[in-house]
Amino acid sequence: MADGSIPSFKAADLVIELSSALKAKQDRPVFGNVFTDHMLTIEWSASEGWQAPLIKPFGNLTLHPACSSLHYGAFDQSELLKCIRRLVEIEQDWVPHSESSSLYIRPTFLGTEQSLGVKKASKALLYVILCPVGSYFTSETKSLSLWADPKYTRAWKGGTGNYKMGGNYGCSLFAQYEAEDHGCQQVLWLYGEDHQITEAGTMNIFLHWINEDGEEELATPPLDGIILPGVTRQSILELTRRWGEFKVTERYLTMSQLCSALKQLRVKELFGSGTACMVCPIGHIVYQGENLHIPCQEKDSQLASRIAKELVDIQHGRTPSDWTLLV
Ligand SMILES: *Cc1c(COP(=O)(O)O)cnc(C)c1O
Repeated sequence: MADGSIPSFKAADLVIELSSALKAKQDRPVFGNVFTDHMLTIEWSASEGWQAPLIKPFGNLTLHPACSSLHYGAFDQSELLKCIRRLVEIEQDWVPHSESSSLYIRPTFLGTEQSLGVKKASKALLYVILCPVGSYFTSETKSLSLWADPKYTRAWKGGTGNYKMGGNYGCSLFAQYEAEDHGCQQVLWLYGEDHQITEAGTMNIFLHWINEDGEEELATPPLDGIILPGVTRQSILELTRRWGEFKVTERYLTMSQLCSALKQLRVKELFGSGTACMVCPIGHIVYQGENLHIPCQEKDSQLASRIAKELVDIQHGRTPSDWTLLV
């Protein structure tokens, strides 16, 4: 660690610069479009190390802090975020909590060296923006249609698909456009010769079914290097394991297993999980010229809506939980 570096990012080290112009309060903030008045920034350089964390008015960067190319590498991924080499642990005591909203924390490590070349940056800024997470699962929530074509691969063994890196997103846009051309909303990402089901768009995926052995099971692919270890995925696994009502498994699932389970009416529900939507039911998959119908909307006691309700109750403090911290 460089000499001038601070040893921790604790709240006691924090410097706060308050904004003089606060934004108007929003009743139903849209995910990803509404941001808090302030953001957390921490500067780093090879010679000085990490500087004291600073909370300052949102938006004081040359680029907008939510700029999609910084977060997702959209279009110009090859020139951006080369330098994400370090995951920084943000202390829990950063996270504000209120009755009405829970917040999505989005840290970005931005190389600020002003010279080109594929190399590690010697100067960088870590900035953290927050946006409120609403509840998106309502009785009108529409199910998703997915387009599954094994010719595209989202992530591969030895790659970066299991990290939240900008570079993973830019290259997935092409498949996304092709899905839209086929009348689908998102891509169902397959992997390998046996067409393993891996993720849906930028969501993890869960299958609630009667498995090959006749057991009721909630299954999601294992974290073998090609799956993003989403916090929603982990929360759903822990929550449903605590219920103890059915088998909860991290296992491989292939398209042929799904297709035969659909034929034998063993599929109860298929849904995606991620912070933006929390859980999102999947209604159709277009695969090898067939339009597979997933039975998700017909039943009253949907697992996806029950999970969404329990997670929102925990986030809002209505259900006491060791996952939330009141500050
Ligand atoms: C962000 C993301 C997820 C969901 O992760 P959460 O932590 O639950 O928001 C899943 N898959 C991919 C590819 C992602 O980028």
